[in-house]
Amino acid sequence: METAWIPLGYLVAASLFILGLRDLGKVRTARRGNTLAAVGMFLAIVVTLIDAAAVDYRYILAGLLIGSAVGAVVAVRVPMTSMPEMVGLLNGFGGAASALVAVSILFQEFQKHPSSNSESLASLFGGYQTAVTGELTLIVGAATFSGSYIAYLKLRGTAIERAMRLPGGNYLTLVSLIASLALAGVLTVVPFTDATTTTLFFVLMGISFLLGVAMVMPIGGADMPVVIAFLNSLSGIAGAMAGFVLSNYLLIIAGSLVGASGLILTEIMCKAMNRSTISVFFGRFGGEVSAAAQAGYTNVKEAGPDEVAMLLEDATGVVFVPGYGLAVARAQHITRELADFLQARGTRVQYAIHPVAGRMPGHMNVLLAEADVPYDQLIEMQDINPEFKSFDVAIVLGANDVVNPAALNDKSSPIYGMPILNVHEARTVVVVKRSLSPGFAGIRNALFDNNNTVMCFGDAKQVIADVLKELKA
Ligand code: NDP
Repeated sequence: METAWIPLGYLVAASLFILGLRDLGKVRTARRGNTLAAVGMFLAIVVTLIDAAAVDYRYILAGLLIGSAVGAVVAVRVPMTSMPEMVGLLNGFGGAASALVAVSILFQEFQKHPSSNSESLASLFGGYQTAVTGELTLIVGAATFSGSYIAYLKLRGTAIERAMRLPGGNYLTLVSLIASLALAGVLTVVPFTDATTTTLFFVLMGISFLLGVAMVMPIGGADMPVVIAFLNSLSGIAGAMAGFVLSNYLLIIAGSLVGASGLILTEIMCKAMNRSTISVFFGRFGGEVSAAAQAGYTNVKEAGPDEVAMLLEDATGVVFVPGYGLAVARAQHITRELADFLQARGTRVQYAIHPVAGRMPGHMNVLLAEADVPYDQLIEMQDINPEFKSFDVAIVLGANDVVNPAALNDKSSPIYGMPILNVHEARTVVVVKRSLSPGFAGIRNALFDNNNTVMCFGDAKQVIADVLKELKA
């Protein structure tokens, strides 16, 4: 049913996606952006269902109900610290959905011609465009699915958490990429029977799964956020290709938006870590850790909450440096209370935000916004770094890798070159964490041995509550 208002519906939905993306770029407008994009998606589904009038609505309704119920339960139950795993898994589902479109379109074409015919995919689909985009949808979709699942397992902290070298190393990625493209080329031009085409199509799917595994397996440590952003982009690209296969403009637009924004995010994350995209995928971060990076500590000084309270009492400027541990402890609310208390006494208070602090891009901004920390107190890395010298106290709350000076001065460190928050330049640094254990990158932190650093061991929420109690007393 092609009426004039179907493209119009798609246009409105696409405009809502673009407006939603624009609003999602700022913490202040992010909620509105989410709502706009969700309304756009709802409209897109309704228009698509009307457009494809042949579908059986009973299945669609059943899928909609089951999918919405699972999504709602997962979204409510997932803790903030597990969001990256969830995003990883959702990327994978996006890729799998696109791959399934490619499979279903093949079987649809089979039904239209006599099964005794031997045909190439180009002749089966009546041209190269659908054949090639269909195969690329399968390759990118399947690789996104398997790669995302591996990324999910890594972020969950399973046995494959660290970078792992598969037999063949990076060659396995290259060989599976070349093999998948070569097989796709053969399927496009060489005529086969339906049975052989089906078998080869599933072999192509298998090689693409291997490509995803080979691509993500060797990556680990601090490079994981980049991988998640890249897989996000791939899921969008697979969706856009599925849009070409189905001749659905909206899918092409939505997929391209996801693909482009994922790539931009990948680029931003790489810059934040001073790594090139190529070195992320072929450089093996987080694999072997040098001996210096693992050596013990010799100059650790401990302070209790009462001593920290005394430091704060005398400070004219205090900067909070949140990290992953703040999210684990859910210490954002009590931290804001402490900040409010200090400000009421005339202390200058700011929060230093590193782009990859936590476990997903924007993690700290979201957490602190949840605790109603004023946006103008959240200062990005490039703006706060020249300011650290002017603070009497820097309180590092469950951050580790993003404040590790080894990134600046230890060439053997796996994080060498990654921009960090220069907290070591503050007059006194208080590190709040439960032990001397390493952070995500699994390496020792030179900051803990510095003369101007004191460690306050304990759960971040408890420590800050105790410090506040001392201050009030
Ligand atoms: P890190 O992972 O380096 O360190 C977190 C620290 O928090 C740990 O050393 C841990 O020490 C401490 N901690 C854990 N629980 C608590 C608690 N309840 N109270 C107090 N402290 C606690 O975090 P950063 O934020 O500094 O760095 C983020 C790392 O994660 C980077 O390597 C980054 O690349 C990576 N990453 C980032 C992503 C992103 O997009 N932002 C995504 C995936 C990875 P202890 O156990 O001693 O308490």
